[in-house]
Amino acid sequence: MSQVSPQVVVVGAGPAGCTLAALLAQRGIPCLVFDDDKRPDLLVGESLIPGVVPVFQQLGIEDRVAQMATRKPGASFFVTDGGPRMHFSFKNVEGHLPTYAFNTPRPEFDHLLRSRAEELGATFVHARAELEAGTHNSEPTIQLSARSREVAGLKPDAKSLLVDCTGRSRAFARTMKLGAEKGERDDIAYFAHFEDFDHDEVEPGQVIISVLRAGWSWRIPLPGRLSVGIVVSKEHAKTLGDTPEERLAAAIRQEPLLAAKATRARRITPVMTYTNYQLLTERGHGPGWVLCGDAFGFVDPMLSPGLFMSLVGAQQLDQWVFRQGVEILNQPEKLAAALNQYSKRIVHWHRSWQELVRYFYDGRIFRIHLAGKNLSMRPSPLNLASRMERHSTRHIASMASGGWTCSRYSRGLMRFLSRYLVWDVPDAAEFAVQSGLRQDVVAKAA
Ligand SMILES: Cc1cc2nc3c(=O)[nH]c(=O)nc-3n(C[C@H](O)[C@H](O)[C@H](O)COP(=O)(O)OP(=O)(O)OC[C@H]3O[C@@H](n4cnc5c(N)ncnc54)[C@H](O)[C@@H]3O)c2cc1C
Repeated sequence: MSQVSPQVVVVGAGPAGCTLAALLAQRGIPCLVFDDDKRPDLLVGESLIPGVVPVFQQLGIEDRVAQMATRKPGASFFVTDGGPRMHFSFKNVEGHLPTYAFNTPRPEFDHLLRSRAEELGATFVHARAELEAGTHNSEPTIQLSARSREVAGLKPDAKSLLVDCTGRSRAFARTMKLGAEKGERDDIAYFAHFEDFDHDEVEPGQVIISVLRAGWSWRIPLPGRLSVGIVVSKEHAKTLGDTPEERLAAAIRQEPLLAAKATRARRITPVMTYTNYQLLTERGHGPGWVLCGDAFGFVDPMLSPGLFMSLVGAQQLDQWVFRQGVEILNQPEKLAAALNQYSKRIVHWHRSWQELVRYFYDGRIFRIHLAGKNLSMRPSPLNLASRMERHSTRHIASMASGGWTCSRYSRGLMRFLSRYLVWDVPDAAEFAVQSGLRQDVVAKAA
């Protein structure tokens, strides 16, 4: 292979890596991506939020995404055993975000992003990158092994910015032994695709997230099939059977919200297993390296922020660093300052998403919803109560769509609502995601 000197080397050809490669190619910045070609037939990350649509528009692929996907008008949240049901429509974000998103079969979606990056001129190397840790002025550094450089045709003395887009493998952080901040969740997820799993309680394309008797579930309508996943504690998973197949089948049988819709359902794929945790790497960049997508941090799948953080993360990196021109790569101080701005932004996003997700796990969101419904029915001067309810819904919907997730006002509003505007509604604990089986609910239903 001829020796080249790309200024940016991306490790990992998932959504974050391919999006960054495509954005850099649009700027004419030479970029090389290590692709280990590991793409299972079935991958989680199928439900997208409106915040990613502007990235598709920037990459010029929205039409192609729409062709392979189901259009998603919003998301609904159910609580088991007759609990509340909340329906969020993306129409609420009109004016500052597209009023729709998509549900996409993942391997096809990844393939599209990769093809687009190639069409725009990014170079891919079919190899797993091998990495070596080092230090520079007592800062952790990372470089490609001699073998990886040779495989990629990189000159031995070539200096490039290395970008970690290796997802939850977190190749850079592991090689450099960087620490990470861990969140509260430590669950396990099982999922598969089904045919004839009824999805008739909501608008077509609407995703349903359910708080179950144990854990929670997703139902994501894809073209011709439904993706069904459960997320439960590792302890509870053991009570569901020995194999992933047994566990998913048992959960669907035992959970009334799922069982009622699965009477005709046929599983048409193997059952995949994923761990679920929440994690943020202690630092996002260093001399000559930067983290992007899941490799930087993983929020939690409940509100589907994963691909948003990967795609918008790549977009942020492009904007904070490369918008200033490729020369910045030869100006260490300016580069460090730009990477610092990018990292701060990502950490802010991460924490804002975590704060929002917590309202859904601990049940406060359902209290806010019930209180809002009560309030909107009360007569009030100038219809103030119902206006307040609409205002709150718009902010919550926008936060969950990737619009106002970080907005100080929206976050403050949520805190205010959950503290002060929740009269005459049950305790949040009634709607919280439980790690074990809710014995009280099961006994009541029996
Ligand atoms: C249970 C669960 C459900 C989820 N549901 C959703 C959802 O509905 N919506 C959503 O938006 N997100 C969801 N996610 C999150 C989403 O899947 C991820 O956020 C997203 O895939 C991250 O993209 P990425 O490009 O950062 O990493 P990845 O998609 O993991 O891509 C990383 C790539 O790098 C490759 N790689 C690793 N090491 C190397 C190496 N040394 N050399 C070369 N290549 C390497 C890997 O093989 C992989 O191809 C879910 C996650 C979980 C766990």
